[in-house]
Formats: sequence, structure tokens, C-alpha cells
Amino acid sequence: MCGIVAVSGNPEAAQLSFLGLYSLQHRGQEAAGIATFDAATGRSHREREAGLVSDALTPERLANLPGDLAVAHIRYSTAGGAGLKNAQPIREHYRGGAVALVHNGNLTNANTLRERLLNEGALFQSTIDSEVIVHLIARSRADSVDGQIGDALSQLEGAYCVLLSVDDVLYAARDPYGYRPLVIGALPSGGLVLASETCALDIVRAKLVRDVEPGELIRIRGGEIESVACLPKFVAEPQPCIFELVYFARPDTHLWGYTVDRARRAFGRRLAEEQPAPGDIVISVPDSANSAAVGFSEASRIPFELGLIRNHYVGRTFITPTQAGRDFKVRMKFSPVREVLEGKRVVVVDDSLVRGTTSRALVAMLREAGASEVHLRLASPPVRWPCFYGIDMPTREELVAAGKSVDEIRGYLGVDSLGYLSPEGMTECVSEKGETYCTACFTGDYRAPLVDREQGLPMESHC
Ligand code: SF4
Repeated sequence: MCGIVAVSGNPEAAQLSFLGLYSLQHRGQEAAGIATFDAATGRSHREREAGLVSDALTPERLANLPGDLAVAHIRYSTAGGAGLKNAQPIREHYRGGAVALVHNGNLTNANTLRERLLNEGALFQSTIDSEVIVHLIARSRADSVDGQIGDALSQLEGAYCVLLSVDDVLYAARDPYGYRPLVIGALPSGGLVLASETCALDIVRAKLVRDVEPGELIRIRGGEIESVACLPKFVAEPQPCIFELVYFARPDTHLWGYTVDRARRAFGRRLAEEQPAPGDIVISVPDSANSAAVGFSEASRIPFELGLIRNHYVGRTFITPTQAGRDFKVRMKFSPVREVLEGKRVVVVDDSLVRGTTSRALVAMLREAGASEVHLRLASPPVRWPCFYGIDMPTREELVAAGKSVDEIRGYLGVDSLGYLSPEGMTECVSEKGETYCTACFTGDYRAPLVDREQGLPMESHC
């Protein structure tokens, strides 16, 4: 998780970044921060605080961020990784200038690099993997800033989208597998904006220019894109995260060549073909399953109804750091609509099933509200493996589908029937041009090497 934004070549860089972060709030709710560089004074500035974007970045804080260049971050953190010291942007000074860095993804050799750097005498200020990137840049022997950044990035393994300013120059990089998204847009008022999702471009009326390509490093100065040599690693089959399409990205975002809403509808239609259900109504688990439920309803010709109402003033349960907080929020987050559900055979469509705790509580809630039968359909395959590339599902033990048959999961959830979309069905829905994806949390097929795990070091998903 996490969301990143940068603005270059616009005097309202901080305010525009704020708006971009605001539209990426679904990617993290723990902390928000913006760093700017003011070329007029040669000084860098940073504000960061715990909480939602609008709480963390108050008008007073934004007023402290002059300059034409900004990098910005919203943070999702795992248990133990929270705290302001781990909020981004990271800001340091080194011989090349003032550095501000934001990172979305998860490095799979972060602890290996960290151990090496600690042995060489490096002092770390945080526990996040992103800080190793700054140390590697500062310690590079290359004689240009471009070279130092390329040198640092070439030592990384795993998933990263990085936005990095060195004085008045902005750099953007995406790992060779392209796990996480990063797009470039042109601002109508001048300059460029880069962001994790296109919805952050829409809010500032920016026009999509293009994606930052997997394995690409670009330099932006004064709003102009300049090419820097590609990262030395090349991957024949990029591995963008299919779970972004399934769950994480906003439905209006354009991602991996598809509008997320359209992709989810296609998952729902295919699910109805593969796993038909005997129902009177189809309902979604709002909001992330809305599109898939509409697709299921279209293909099955079972009417779509609003059987669950979501309270939007509670955060997404899946991204709550502690289990206690998650259980508590489930009951606060959804309300059943008795008039819709009473006496009905209800087909509930959800996007995915990770821990199962939310679904189990929801099924009990639907039965209490009068549903005569509950048939659960998941618009993705069983999640059986943890993600090491930036999504928080840290252990196999926490995944309800790991080591259980579909019938055992059905019993645990208390549903009348349970059906998952097949792995082939999922990928075929979004492979019109032969695209390849990471599906490791469904299949266990990890492509980027899990270096820390091979070294016996802990592997945590930081962001
Ligand atoms: S393991 Fe799953 S969540 Fe992680 S990058 Fe791959 S598809 Fe995405």
C-alpha cells in the first residue's frame, strides 16, 4: 500500500500534491507528508504528521511548504511500523544536495542491505526499508547524481516506485517488474504531476501523459521530462500486481491498460459463469466489490440490490494495523438493509477473502437481518500466500484459505455455498493484449527474489 505524488514546475506544488494525496487516501491512512524545494532560497521544507491527509496536512502546514517542486506520501503501516519517525518523505542532505524521497512498494532485500550498511557504520533514523535507498545514494562512488541514483536503484530487489528530489531536480523510478503503478500527467496550469493512480491526476485536472515504465528511471527538471539510462536489470515479463485491479485501486483509476471498474465488472461476469448461485438478489460488500457485483448481476440476470450500507467515516478494515481494531471496525462499518434482505436467498459478491474475519461477521449480520440463504462469491481466487511486494498480508497463518479446502472455508464462514473465481478466469479477464501479472498471493509463484528470506532475515511488508 501507500500512495505517492510529486509535482514539478508549478508554484502551487504543495497544494496540488495535497489534492493528489487526498484522492489516494484509500491507499493508506496512517500518516501523510509533503516535502518541497524552494529554488528561490535554495532551501528544502517538510511537513508530515500522523492521520488522514486533511488532518495531517492543515492549511498552516501547507503554508510552510513553498517551492515549485514537491514530493508527497500517504502511509499505510504494519503493526510495529507505525510512528512519525517512519512517515515519509524521508529528507536528508548529502554531497549531491537536499534529498527528499517517497517510496511505494516493498524491498525484498531491505534487511540484507541494512545489515551491510550498519556494518559499514551507517546510522538509521527509521525502521522503514525506504531509508536504505537514501544511504545507498549517499555512499555511491558514481560522480554524478544520475549515476548515484542509478547505482542505488540497481542494488534493490523487490517492489518499488520511487519519487525523489535532489535540490530542484525530480527523479522517478519503477522497479523492473513494475509491481506498483506510477503515472505521469501534465497540469493545465503548467508543470507535471506524478502519482500512484490516475485518480490523483483527475483531481488536479491533469492530462495523462504516460506510465513510468517498469525498469525506467526518469529525470524531471522545471516540468520537462528527460531520459536517464535504464536501470541495468531487465525483466522479460513485467509483473504488475493484479491485486491492485481486484481490490486496492480506486474504481475510476485507469490501471494496467484497464479502467478498474471495467476490470472488476469483467471479474464479476466471469465469476457468475464459473460459479453460478441460486439467489433472489445479488448484493455487494461495498465499496470495493460494487463493480464485481454489478458484473455478476449482469451475467446471472439476478437483480442487484443495495443490501449492505457502508459507513464511510470508518477506514477500510483490511488496512487497519491491528486485529483488535479490525474486528471492532467491521461492526461499525456495515449496516444490513432488512427490507431488502428479509426472506431472500442472497448472493453476496466480495472482491477477495483474506483473513475471513470481516466476511464471517457479515454473514452472521445478513442472517440476523432475515436472509434465508447466503451464497458467497469471490471475484478472485483463494488468497493462499503472503505478499512480499508491498501489500500487508504478512503470514500464511492469517490467511483463511491457506491450508483449508473450499468446503472448510465455507463452514468457517457459515455460508450456504462458496465459490471463487479461478486463477485463469481472473487473468483472462485482463489479458486482452497478452499482459502478464504478479499473482503470487494466489499461486505462490514469486518472481522477484525473496533475498531476505533466503538469508534467514525477517521479511516485512512496510508499504
Ligand atoms: S503477491 Fe499478490 S498482492 Fe502482492 S504484488 Fe503479487 S498479486 Fe499483488
